[in-house]
Amino acid sequence: MIVNNKMKSLGIDIGGTNIKYGVIDTNNKLVFSKFIDAEIKSGKDSVIEKLKSIICNCKRNYDISYVGVGIAGLVDKNRGIVLSSPNLPDWNNVHLKNKLEELGLPVILDNDANCFILGEYIAGAGQGYKDILGITIGTGIGGGIIVHGKLYNGKNNYAGEFGHTKVVPNGRLCNCGQKGCIEAYASGFAVTKIAQEKYGAHNLKCKRMTPKILYELAQNGDKIAQKIYKQAFYYLGISMSNLINIFNPEAIIFGGGMSKMGDFMLKQVEKIAMEHSFKPSAKNVEFKLAKLGDNAGIVGAGNLHYQAVAL
Ligand SMILES: [Zn+2]
Repeated sequence: MIVNNKMKSLGIDIGGTNIKYGVIDTNNKLVFSKFIDAEIKSGKDSVIEKLKSIICNCKRNYDISYVGVGIAGLVDKNRGIVLSSPNLPDWNNVHLKNKLEELGLPVILDNDANCFILGEYIAGAGQGYKDILGITIGTGIGGGIIVHGKLYNGKNNYAGEFGHTKVVPNGRLCNCGQKGCIEAYASGFAVTKIAQEKYGAHNLKCKRMTPKILYELAQNGDKIAQKIYKQAFYYLGISMSNLINIFNPEAIIFGGGMSKMGDFMLKQVEKIAMEHSFKPSAKNVEFKLAKLGDNAGIVGAGNLHYQAVAL
């Protein structure tokens, strides 16, 4: 594939609620970005029609040459197939690349966490580094790896599934079907579930429990909430120490809804990780919050083509 660096690209990030998209210029700046309701419940074909309509409109107005799409779940990047997605229940073996390329532009798909770290590497908190890791902590926990300035996908594009690394042998049941994954202890889904167990399902605090409400309780001195987050951050720190020992990264960048807790989360995770890491590696790693917010996935998706030709 020949990629002309003067051409603009369109980045699309398909989430469980919204489709976020934007046009990236030659300096990796967002020309514009927009969110629309994905209306997942109206079905796969309806979502694909929305994606096609986005591509058509952007192509008409912005001289787009490439399209990149990020989506949560398992993506066969080489063949452009969405194998499965936790946000999109009826998406199994969807040949999304082929369907979108009917509009005449080359399309690359990747996992949303890979797009997140690529976006942060190019235009956010990862700028200036070459070897970084990205962790997205939302309903689930995802991850992405940049090695020598390139996204590392692994043989089948499943690299970076940090959420399913084990922190407690034979521990809590994870959504992946295995036990003891970090996602079963520190994701938004996990802390909400643990809170319901600790307070008791009939407790008023549990009626509308969310990670944000639990955070506010912790900030207001609620001992149970503080203990739940202390445990979650302890396991996250242990998990990060394992990643530090394996990758010797320059920086670890935290994104996703839970990272909005900021230093409350970051400092506790960093402290535990430092205590448990191989000391020479621990000395050189920085813990950082993502900078691009919801736009990281768009910028990363829009840059997938440049990564593909540079490999
Ligand atoms: Zn798991």
